[in-house]
Amino acid sequence: MSQERRYSFEFFPAKTEAGHEKLMTVARNLASYQPDFFSCTYGAGGSTRDRTLQTVLQLDGEVKVPTAPHLSCVGDSKAELRALLAHYKDAGIQRIVALRGDLPSGMGMASGELRFANELVEFIRTETGDHFHIEVAAYPEVHPQARSYESDLANFVRKVKAGASSAITQYFFNADSYFYFVERVRKLGVDIPVVPGIMPITNYSKLARFSDACGAEIPRWVRKQLESYGDDVQSIQAFGEQVITEMCEELLQGGAPGLHFYTLNQAEPSLAIWKNLNLPR
Ligand code: FAD
Repeated sequence: MSQERRYSFEFFPAKTEAGHEKLMTVARNLASYQPDFFSCTYGAGGSTRDRTLQTVLQLDGEVKVPTAPHLSCVGDSKAELRALLAHYKDAGIQRIVALRGDLPSGMGMASGELRFANELVEFIRTETGDHFHIEVAAYPEVHPQARSYESDLANFVRKVKAGASSAITQYFFNADSYFYFVERVRKLGVDIPVVPGIMPITNYSKLARFSDACGAEIPRWVRKQLESYGDDVQSIQAFGEQVITEMCEELLQGGAPGLHFYTLNQAEPSLAIWKNLNLPR
């Protein structure tokens, strides 16, 4: 695997036994491409606490790819976070993705003791020193709740100052937004790697809904083309693969320090892009 660039695959913990078995099959397949790490999401408020823990330990221990748990602070007490950190540290986990999280509607905002991701990063450093490589989230197209571009940048810098080691971006379909974000944070003295998060396009209606919620803009020409395919899944996937492959080429040629694939627990859409890019195996 390339020293300079890092490649990773993200999963979510499955809800059912069958889903979990499928996830493990997908992970074993992706493991054969020797990614630098896997990561596994965490339901804010602790809704997936046990499933995330179990999935991380299995991916790391049995599938044998270093695996980073996501950890979010809204809705979890310091005692709960401390217990999870100790568990991961004892199990030899070395990387963590530290997030604020989004509480499911109805759970309220103020149930956790830590309000923002920078406070979680600080907490992890206080509790565990330099043990973990801490990833944080970055938003080239601006986090939907941010007051402004500048305040979101300031927040990103706060997370880095609190001790983040590197960052993974929210997905986007516009490489310029990534390059501009990196240029701006470099000018603010941030020198940690900012790795683009890549969302393969497989299902237009789900993607449109999700993108609205997380503030990722689907360019009009991509939207119009995807809409024109209707239920023709093959055409959607073929076009999506081409668009994302070309964007990844542009990102890597422009100096992106790797790629992080949001797999949604499927191997093929990410692997198709991986193969098109001739990434190292
Ligand atoms: P923060 O960095 O805390 O920022 C949240 C918002 O608050 C921003 O608008 C920021 O500008 C603002 N802000 C920060 N500090 C302050 C302050 N002091 N005063 C006022 N405003 C402030 N969600 C999950 O629930 N589970 C997951 O596993 C998960 N994994 C993710 C992985 C990646 C790579 C990414 C990009 C996102 C992930 N998310 C996950 C989604 C994430 O939790 C949401 O985007 C969430 O809304 C913000 O989390 P954050 O860590 O970026 O928050």
